[in-house]
Amino acid sequence: MKGFAMLSIGKTGWIEKERPVCGPTDAICRPIALAPCTSDVHTVWAGAIGDRHELILGHEAVGEIVEIGSLVKDFKVGDRVLITAITPDWNSLAAQDGYAMHSGGLLSGWKFSNFKDGVFAEYFHVNDADGNLALLPEGMDLASACMLADMVPTGVHGAELADIQFGDKVAVIGIGPVGLMAVAASAIRGASEIFAVGSRPNCVELAKEFGATDVINYHDGDIAEQIMKKTGSVDKVIIAGGTVDTFIQAINMLKPGGKIGNINYLGEGDYVKIPRTQWGCGMGHKQIVGGLMPGGRLRMEKLASLVMTGRLNPSKLITHRFEGLESVEEALMLMKDKPKDLIKPLILL
Ligand code: NAD
Ligand code: ZN
Repeated sequence: MKGFAMLSIGKTGWIEKERPVCGPTDAICRPIALAPCTSDVHTVWAGAIGDRHELILGHEAVGEIVEIGSLVKDFKVGDRVLITAITPDWNSLAAQDGYAMHSGGLLSGWKFSNFKDGVFAEYFHVNDADGNLALLPEGMDLASACMLADMVPTGVHGAELADIQFGDKVAVIGIGPVGLMAVAASAIRGASEIFAVGSRPNCVELAKEFGATDVINYHDGDIAEQIMKKTGSVDKVIIAGGTVDTFIQAINMLKPGGKIGNINYLGEGDYVKIPRTQWGCGMGHKQIVGGLMPGGRLRMEKLASLVMTGRLNPSKLITHRFEGLESVEEALMLMKDKPKDLIKPLILL
């Protein structure tokens, strides 16, 4: 089969590979919708997780099952399915401990385009099909369905990690597709003020639609100073963009007892900087939690229900549409180059 792969750090290309083998608890799918992710860009061009050779990229897909393992209970060939970007081993101690995304080791629930071939191929393999697939709800558009693979669950996880409560003042740093979903999730969770930090006009517009009450442009100076001038310290910060240095501003704007939820994939830099005095010399009760999004069927079914009841419309993230597997290359290059009008591309097959 044909797939679009990372050949080595900084290099991509089309390769031929054997179609993956279906184990007893697995599924083999063909993609019916795909999207590239900023994480693919960090992986290939920043070499963020180290070198990979001939590894098929991509982890955001909607699929149709073409082969199903003999022990899979709830899915059959021909089913159209949502697939989580993170596909943990649900029968693992890490899962029993509440951290399925780290089953098999740190970040090891993230298998597609990390430890095994991803979804930018004619066929892809899903481990633990009963745990990692969900039926595509009748009537759901493929754009929303594809955003349920990663953008929605990651943005939502930012709000979970920051523990957004009714009436919280929240800053969301970075309003690409992930940050925009974090804005929407904060609004759904009951934040009163949501400061969206970003600059691209269509992202700013969408942030307001998803519930941002104010927009801060990081090109206009220190974002902590800008926010604190308007509202004082915030209760919670979600980091969905920026660098290892972004934690400085996040700590500076956070009140004692506040929480920072980081969902940004730090592609470069060896250390995260925490400002000592603003962190209360180590005694400020300013918590930082960073997390890979949890995968799994139950969570995806619940997030899909938010879409089906009209509480969340992630299809609004899609700014560019393509057709055919071969266009994943162009779509990924768009993610790399980030033209000003891009939020998220979608490929239909
Ligand atoms: P994106 O690049 O589209 O958005 C990031 C935004 O941050 C951009 O708009 C950029 O202009 C902005 N930004 C850059 N520097 C900034 C600064 N100093 N202050 C404020 N904003 C700044 O990326 P995305 O697709 O929205 O993804 C966001 C991050 O989430 C990426 O690092 C991605 O790899 C990561 N991610 C993590 C998970 C997870 O499970 N935790 C899953 C998917 C993606
Ligand atoms: Zn991703």
